Amino acid sequence: MPNTVPGCCELCGRQLAVSEHSLCACCFGRLLSECLSHPVVCPACGNGRILFADGICALCHSGEEEDVDGHCLARYLEPWPRLVQAIKFGSKAPLAQDLGRLMALCLGSPREDELVTWVPLSLRRFMLRGFNQAARLARAYAQACGHDSVSLLRRIRGTRAQARLGASTRRHNLAGAFSVIPGARLEGREIILVDDVVTTGATTRGCSQVLQAAGARQVRVFSLCCG
Ligand SMILES: [Zn+2]
Ligand SMILES: [Zn+2]
Repeated sequence: MPNTVPGCCELCGRQLAVSEHSLCACCFGRLLSECLSHPVVCPACGNGRILFADGICALCHSGEEEDVDGHCLARYLEPWPRLVQAIKFGSKAPLAQDLGRLMALCLGSPREDELVTWVPLSLRRFMLRGFNQAARLARAYAQACGHDSVSLLRRIRGTRAQARLGASTRRHNLAGAFSVIPGARLEGREIILVDDVVTTGATTRGCSQVLQAAGARQVRVFSLCCG
C-alpha cells in the first residue's frame, strides 16, 4: 500500500525535509541510479524501447517498426506499481512532481520547439478522480526542463476500462477514442506524449495517430513504466 502519512517518504516512510516533495533524497537517489544503470532494453533485439506486457518491443512483437518512438524509466516491477498506484488513486501532486523530475533526469529535455502533452482521461473519469495523473506528470516533467506543457488531446468518448480487455479488443475499443482539441496547430511539430504506464501501447498509439493525422511530424512517448 502507498504510504498515506503526510510529510513522510512514499517509499521508506522517513520524515521528509522541507525541501523534499514526497520521496526522501535517499529513495529518490536510489530510484535515479537504478533507472540510469538498468535502462529498459528489449531482451530480443537489444534496443532501448518500450516493452509491452509480454516483455518484448513492438518491432519484435509484430515485425513492424513502430511509428512511435517510446521511452520509459523502468519495467512495471517493485517499487513502481506502488508509485503508479499512488499518483493515480491518491491526490499525490508532490509525488508526480518527483517522478516528473526523475523523467527529466533519465530521458532528457524536450527539443527546443517540441511540445509536451499528455494522454487525456475521459470526462467521466476526470470528474471521478478530479485530476489527470498523466497531465500532472507532463507538467512536472516540462517544468523540470524549464519548458511548458500544453493540452492537445481529448477523449471523444469514454472507453471501457482497458485493463480487463484483450489486446485486439483494446485496439478496437480505442479506435476513434481521441481527437485533437479545436484550434491546436500541429503542422510539422514534434511532440512528447506523456503517460504513466504503457502496457499494450494501444492508448499511446491511438493518441499518436491522431496527432500525426493533424500534421505532427514526430511523436515521442515518455512514460514512467512499461509492461
Ligand atoms: Zn525514502
Ligand atoms: Zn525488440
